[in-house]
Amino acid sequence: MNAVTKSASVAEIVTRVRRGVLIDGSWRPATGAATFEVEDPARGRSLGEVADGTPEDGLAALTAADDARSSWAATPPRHRGLILRRAYELLLRRKEQLAWLITLEMGKSLAESRAEVEYGANYLRWFGEEAVRIEGSWKVSEDGTARVLVMRQPVGPCLLITPWNAPLAMPARKIAPAVAAGCTMIVKPAPQTPLTTAALAETLIEAGLPDGVLNIVPTTDAAALTEPLLRDGRLRKLSFTGSTPVGRLLLSHAAGTVLRTSMELGGNAPFIVCRDADLDAAVTGAMTAKLRNIGEACIAANRFHVHAAVAERFSAKLAARMSELTLGPGTETGTDIGPLIDERQRRKVAELVEDTVAAGATVRIGGRIPAGPGYFYPPTVLTDVPPGSRISREEIFGPVAAIQTFEQESEALRAANDTEFGLVSYLYTRDLARAVRMSERLETGMVGLNRGYVSDASAPFGGMKQSGIGREGGNSGIEEYLEQKYVAVDAAEPEPEDGELPEESR
Ligand code: NAP
Repeated sequence: MNAVTKSASVAEIVTRVRRGVLIDGSWRPATGAATFEVEDPARGRSLGEVADGTPEDGLAALTAADDARSSWAATPPRHRGLILRRAYELLLRRKEQLAWLITLEMGKSLAESRAEVEYGANYLRWFGEEAVRIEGSWKVSEDGTARVLVMRQPVGPCLLITPWNAPLAMPARKIAPAVAAGCTMIVKPAPQTPLTTAALAETLIEAGLPDGVLNIVPTTDAAALTEPLLRDGRLRKLSFTGSTPVGRLLLSHAAGTVLRTSMELGGNAPFIVCRDADLDAAVTGAMTAKLRNIGEACIAANRFHVHAAVAERFSAKLAARMSELTLGPGTETGTDIGPLIDERQRRKVAELVEDTVAAGATVRIGGRIPAGPGYFYPPTVLTDVPPGSRISREEIFGPVAAIQTFEQESEALRAANDTEFGLVSYLYTRDLARAVRMSERLETGMVGLNRGYVSDASAPFGGMKQSGIGREGGNSGIEEYLEQKYVAVDAAEPEPEDGELPEESR
């Protein structure tokens, strides 16, 4: 593929996505006309300027969402579903251009960006189908004097805050169920990747989403923008994807207005390889679980717990596979691993590796920042990682596999669960009873059993413990955007009239 031609078409998309805030169906400059630069992490160059939304823009977006609230909630579910379906098809038709945009803003390889477009689009298709399956119920009360009518209604205007690591899929995972449920919304994308989110919004508008339903306000001052919104009684829901510390802070703000919240927070996924595992399958799974998204994923394998009897073979195979990968700009043919998002993230990864090596770990491959522009960090394998070291407690968010060993199943479970996080774990074993036993005991919202990939629009994605509250996708995903209302319908028998009194009471 010719890089120059492709870049030109991406430039067109970036121009088409007018660099404003999206309020009530039109892109307009931010109040005060301030802008900020979006950077290409592979080259350190600017990709263009984006409007820097202010608290006034945030409140204007909330007003638009509130004004559109009743009419949007009253639209036929099929209508909402068809808009999502049309947007799904448009996204797939534009897969190549959107993939370029994701790669330019976020850094991952084009193959991975294409996969993200498909993954994000799947949520639009899935929730387009769920829109027409919002159910209520009707039953006779316990004592027979009433009928219990339960309906589900949209919660109302939502604030959706998203991270940079999957700039199309993360907003799609929130926007799609909100649209399907009949909610209006304000999206605050991450400042590193606002262009892809804007392109997604354009696609939804082209598919027929009415003015005011979806408002987008990028900003470099997230706290200033969101705090007035969280205090405003018109806002009914906060859905956040990001780090656990920011999630905790937002939960404390949400308490002020007893706001409904969904939280998709940080992870610290254990990847357990039992003695009886198919080692080649485990290595293939590890490549996906560790390196998807350059390791910058909440579900990235963060700690490898490998049975001592197979640890050396597993480590050698993983190091061999990881050393075959090509590091480079995501837009270049042949690149497997792109740059990290920025210098701060690269510094953090480098420090974690230095710390672990100082504590006694061995570097099998990688571990050295390459020269040149861009925030590159090489695929790295560390063995003999001391238990309890910093790298096994903190999210690495980079292409570093830290391997430690265990002897007993109970020891592996204890180590896997020894964290405040509980998003996902990966388990490789060929023993069915062990697979069931360990899956039940792992304290995570998701388990990849002999599989390094769990993301799926039809599955409930989310975490236990401090990895979050609520689920995105699956049959329950739409519930996050619906309120239950119960109507007690009187059905008591009428008092009998005099002439009808039963004989014994005359
Ligand atoms: P982050 O620093 O928590 O930021 C996430 C989003 O929140 C960004 O848009 C950020 O904007 C915004 N934000 C930060 N402080 C805020 C505040 N005080 N008020 C309102 N918004 C605020 O996380 P990140 O570094 O972008 O993303 C990586 C994290 O996300 C990792 O911990 C990862 O595990 C987690 N994640 C979780 C899931 C999941 O499904 N569980 C999925 C993907 C990522 P600014 O950047 O402008 O501050």
